[in-house]
Amino acid sequence: MTLTASPLAANSTHPPAAAGLSIVVPLYNEGAGLAGFHARLAEIARQLRQERGLATEVVYVDDGSRDNSLAVVQTLSAESLDVQVVSLSRNFGKEAALMAGLDHARLGAVLFMDGDGQHPPALIPTLVGHWLDGGHDVVFTAKAHRANEPRTRRLGVWMFYWLLNWRTRTPIPENAGDFRLLSPRAADALRRLPERNRFFKGLATWIGFRQFRVDYEPAPRAHGTTSWNPYSLIGLSIEGLTSFSVAPLRLASLLGLALAFIALLFGASILWETLFEGKSVPGYPSLVVGLMVLGGVQLIMIGIMGEYIGKVLSEIKARPVYFVADHSVRTAQGVIDAPARTAAE
Ligand code: UDP
Ligand code: MG
Repeated sequence: MTLTASPLAANSTHPPAAAGLSIVVPLYNEGAGLAGFHARLAEIARQLRQERGLATEVVYVDDGSRDNSLAVVQTLSAESLDVQVVSLSRNFGKEAALMAGLDHARLGAVLFMDGDGQHPPALIPTLVGHWLDGGHDVVFTAKAHRANEPRTRRLGVWMFYWLLNWRTRTPIPENAGDFRLLSPRAADALRRLPERNRFFKGLATWIGFRQFRVDYEPAPRAHGTTSWNPYSLIGLSIEGLTSFSVAPLRLASLLGLALAFIALLFGASILWETLFEGKSVPGYPSLVVGLMVLGGVQLIMIGIMGEYIGKVLSEIKARPVYFVADHSVRTAQGVIDAPARTAAE
């Protein structure tokens, strides 16, 4: 397939720097570090304008913060880059906040980054370079290593990626984060995906185009604590797995097959012993063990199927992914009018 045959590629054989760059930053209780973060962003924006003539805006998505994040972003300076503020009606979660940012981004390319200082703004010019000079469409960053993380977490991560990428055509790169730049056509492709349960890391790989990996060392959080705990991480992992692969279903079937085969052998051996060796059938412990193994496996399989059915249900309900409570766009010239969107449109 030639790229130009696709409607997505029609306007993007050469990366149009003129279209500019929208930086999407989801915020949940990040008020304390925001002023410093914005100052660093503004510095990078000035640099990009001078060196490449690239227009930039930042889209702050306040994901129902309980602190003063919203009040802080509304006062940030729009001198060096336009400031768009999208305030969601409650906390919808990071993936929903990213989608709200993607929907509201007004300029061509889109860059996602966290607002807690872990994704260094200083890396932005490098990502932009790979897009504009290297001609890549999806420039994603990945943790260079996880040496500073506990063993159990590393093991969990390893298992997650192993299951996720089991026999898949589009393996999702290990340790890739949400800090990534999408060219205009890649951002358009992402907007056109219809599903409500978003797992951005996976989708950004799935859309294809020219992908490029940049390794970096995430900075420690500038303030506060992470909003993830082991339970929510397991939740996100299940979310990612079930929206990207049917591997759990297949593994469950394989396990069922293996168990049935073992049971068959076991049954045959009992039959042999009774018929030809005259031994009596062994007692009930073997029966109970067999029953428990089978019962356990069946429950696990029902649970796995339940995950997928739940996903189907939430896609069928087709509720909007988020609601916007307030929306504003400020430029160096002042406040301008721009419509707020909902994910239902
Ligand atoms: N975040 C959000 N909604 C949430 C949780 C987090 O928008 O419900 C934002 C948060 O403000 C930050 C980013 O998502 O900008 C990453 O969150 P966090 O630092 O807690 O995650 P980690 O870096 O530990 O993966
Ligand atoms: Mg963080």
